[in-house]
Amino acid sequence: MTELRLPGETRKLGNSNLVIAPLAWGMWRFADNNRSVSDAARLVHTALDAGITLLDTADIYGFDGKGGFGDAETLLGKVLAEEPALRRRMVLATKGGIRPPLPYDQSPKYLAEAIDASLQRLQVETIDLYQIHRPDILSHPQEVAQVLDGAIAAGKIRAIGVSNFTTAQIEALSHFLTAPLVSTQPEISPLRIDCFENGELDQAMRMNLVPLAWSPLGGGQLVNPETERELAVATALDRIAETQGKSRSVAAYSWLMAHPAGIVPIIGSQTPERIAEGAEALTMRWTRQEWYAVLVAAREEGLP
Ligand code: NAP
Repeated sequence: MTELRLPGETRKLGNSNLVIAPLAWGMWRFADNNRSVSDAARLVHTALDAGITLLDTADIYGFDGKGGFGDAETLLGKVLAEEPALRRRMVLATKGGIRPPLPYDQSPKYLAEAIDASLQRLQVETIDLYQIHRPDILSHPQEVAQVLDGAIAAGKIRAIGVSNFTTAQIEALSHFLTAPLVSTQPEISPLRIDCFENGELDQAMRMNLVPLAWSPLGGGQLVNPETERELAVATALDRIAETQGKSRSVAAYSWLMAHPAGIVPIIGSQTPERIAEGAEALTMRWTRQEWYAVLVAAREEGLP
């Protein structure tokens, strides 16, 4: 059976001028355990040396329920201040719009201030990709669009993305934006397959949005499967991984990358060896039969 295409070495971030590699690295867990600036720098180097270009953070990363808001951005800012040349090697992505203890806030004043605060913490003049982290259903998309377009006009951000938006919310925000949306960031993994059939990836392809997959290993659950379903998905991935001499996590990344929407998995590991290993996903091959076998395991029922 013919094999599915390999992901290209690079791809454009939607209709922007930004070019990214087919794998990204995420910093949700970056500020955990009081990581030192030198350890943080080592992780950034590891990701960039592995060929990863898009680094994904958020203003809320580091928040532990009580404090720590902004800590992941601040840590990356310190790394960049110590080694400014790193900035040119990365496509810097962050997010805002979640405001603890209030859940979500994208009112114009707050959102504009959140962008400025991220720039300050990151110690950069421009954010390449600014994403709305989760939709605030109390903000009108026209007002959100005005703030985001204004930030582009002011040179504060280069491109706009969303995360955890429904297809209708993406359509509404896009309608009011002057700059095109370039990315969407839903949870996608072999354990989280909703977007394959709920229209999200179809919309991404139609609108030329890069789907950035958060928690591509199910937050690590795929590596330590517990339920019957998780075990079945892990077994289906292992079957292919073993024949190609790869690990299960590499197989999971490449399974996502084989989708025609050009899914970009965001590696969440903060272990240098595991980040570097991710690059092996670029050379894994899938037949349709093998790909669908993983989907069927995740669906827990055969195809109709
Ligand atoms: P993940 O890749 O699904 O899970 C990573 C976790 O799995 C880490 O704790 C890692 O531990 C663990 N792990 C265990 N064995 C591993 C192995 N062999 N290889 C790789 N990892 C292994 O991703 P995630 O951290 O949940 O999320 C990834 C990124 O998605 C985040 O950093 C963030 O950028 C983004 N995200 C976005 C949202 C959103 O709402 N937009 C939500 C969640 C996450 P070690 O670190 O010890 O290796």
